[in-house]
Amino acid sequence: MNDPNWQQSLFTQAAPELGNQYRDDPLLSGWLRRTLPPDVLRSVEPELEELGGLAGGELYHLQLADRLNEPRLLQWDAWGNRTDTIEVSPLWREAERLTVRHGLIATAYEEALGRYARIAQFAKVYLFHPSSDVYTCPLAMTDGAARTLLESGNPALIERALPHLTARDPAAFWTSGQWMTETTGGSDVGRSQTRAVLQDGAWRLYGRKWFTSAVSSQVALTLARPEGNPPGGKGLAMFFVEVRDAAGRLNGLRVDRLKDKLGTRKVPTAELMLEGTRAELVGEPLHGTRAIEPMLVVTRTWNSVCACAFMRRGLALARSYAARREAFGQPLAQQPLHADTLAALEAETWGAFLMTFLLVELVGRAERSQIDDQQRALLRLVTPLTKLVTGKQAVAVVSEVIESFGGAGYVEDTGLPQLLRDAQVLPIWEGTTNVLSLDALLRSDLHAGLAALMGRASACVRGLGEPRLQAAGRQAIGAIERAALWLESGQDREVMQAGARRLALTLARGLQLALLCEHAQWLLDHGGDRRGYAAALRFSRQPVDLIHEVDTELDALLLS
Ligand SMILES: Cc1cc2nc3c(=O)[nH]c(=O)nc-3n(C[C@H](O)[C@H](O)[C@H](O)COP(=O)(O)OP(=O)(O)OC[C@H]3O[C@@H](n4cnc5c(N)ncnc54)[C@H](O)[C@@H]3O)c2cc1C
Repeated sequence: MNDPNWQQSLFTQAAPELGNQYRDDPLLSGWLRRTLPPDVLRSVEPELEELGGLAGGELYHLQLADRLNEPRLLQWDAWGNRTDTIEVSPLWREAERLTVRHGLIATAYEEALGRYARIAQFAKVYLFHPSSDVYTCPLAMTDGAARTLLESGNPALIERALPHLTARDPAAFWTSGQWMTETTGGSDVGRSQTRAVLQDGAWRLYGRKWFTSAVSSQVALTLARPEGNPPGGKGLAMFFVEVRDAAGRLNGLRVDRLKDKLGTRKVPTAELMLEGTRAELVGEPLHGTRAIEPMLVVTRTWNSVCACAFMRRGLALARSYAARREAFGQPLAQQPLHADTLAALEAETWGAFLMTFLLVELVGRAERSQIDDQQRALLRLVTPLTKLVTGKQAVAVVSEVIESFGGAGYVEDTGLPQLLRDAQVLPIWEGTTNVLSLDALLRSDLHAGLAALMGRASACVRGLGEPRLQAAGRQAIGAIERAALWLESGQDREVMQAGARRLALTLARGLQLALLCEHAQWLLDHGGDRRGYAAALRFSRQPVDLIHEVDTELDALLLS
């Protein structure tokens, strides 16, 4: 204590560090090597390297520095005019610039890469997302709106909006919102109360939209019920809205407030009052929930990619920390139980990634009409399955990542808690886990989807040469077969609904294990990389088959 410099000798912990997020990710680069023709890979790789460097470097540091900035709603100007402008954070402004520069939307719509365009786009999104403060939320909806308009067959709107939504010019770029959820419900959208009234030949909307993220967007797709239409989803119609006029005045709407949320705090999520908002009917004045479906395929794919990206980021930080932090005389990375904990998370991340990029590949095929009937049936089923399973995996993995930092993981200025808060939204928006499980269970083409899923899983395991991978492959097929048997067991509707989540998760985890085995064998055969093998075997030791007996009476007793 007599030493005046004693404080300088106090221990300080080195912070985790991120390297180039593309170069440091053998899963992404290995999968791209396996999937893309060499010339396509060569053409996209330099940009992935650049984005990987930004995401682990400059953009990540900007994100940490920007931690306390949040969007603000400025309802009035100095002269008493109602303006309802939204000020977004500095990082969001930079994220917009990078979006345009790297074509995070545009890449998917350009001809050059054909059916590989979605793979190239989502590889970029996967790298960009964790350092973007969920700027990917408006991007997902922008991409979804572009796709929906393209499929709507409305030439005037396509000509007006598509060049902006897919622009590579910052001055021309628009983002789009998706205004669906009302106070009556986000899952049961058919109960929406917003009215569409034809006045002097133009549609005007009246109602309240309860969750509208990225209200800073220039345009939105929304649902409203034309007067005289029947109740339910069938009676809704899809409308295109320009939020402001050329002078910046709001188009007959009011931003009541921004929501005070658990996470995604950089995303300005607003409550809107539509008070005669001018809107353009996109297609027919009916069947709006069906018309907006292309939006959901796209946003659910974004959700799944972002889930994997959060898992990868969490693990990159946790592994860096484990190499630097010592406890009981060794770096955490060398403590057997800590290593076992992180290995379990890696295996989940690999499984989630392979399923998600299967979805991405199928979306790309469908959009370029290079898809057969079986692949189309698979796409329809794996869209809800991938979104729901990866949302759950992301929350579980990121929660464990937080614990792997001990107390530091719980402290805000490490930037770590934000990761968990932001991940928690993934199972909620774009369809909750239960709603998507029911969506999968109740779809009219479930049997075709199931046959296609089994076909894909069987193809994965057919070529396995490594005996332990063969055993894991048999386990995957067994889980899918048991789920199919349960489905065909002819139980009543209540029992089927109660078991829908376990059914969906078993199908999803069975497929993930099959894809892991396939990728592991490919890696072994192409350079002898054994990490895929380790991921497949580790995943096979984690729960895959979640089917169990349903007893609704017992559950009712428990909840009584
Ligand atoms: C941060 C954030 C941003 C958002 N941004 C947007 C946006 O930009 N645009 C937009 O339109 N929406 C947005 N949403 C809304 C979101 O899509 C909805 O919250 C979500 O769809 C769920 O709807 P809900 O909140 O009405 O919950 P409810 O539909 O009331 O569901 C409540 C619970 O009941 C369960 N449930 C419902 N029906 C069933 C059933 N039949 N069987 C079993 N379980 C069931 C659900 O799984 C859920 O757990 C956002 C939400 C959040 C959190």
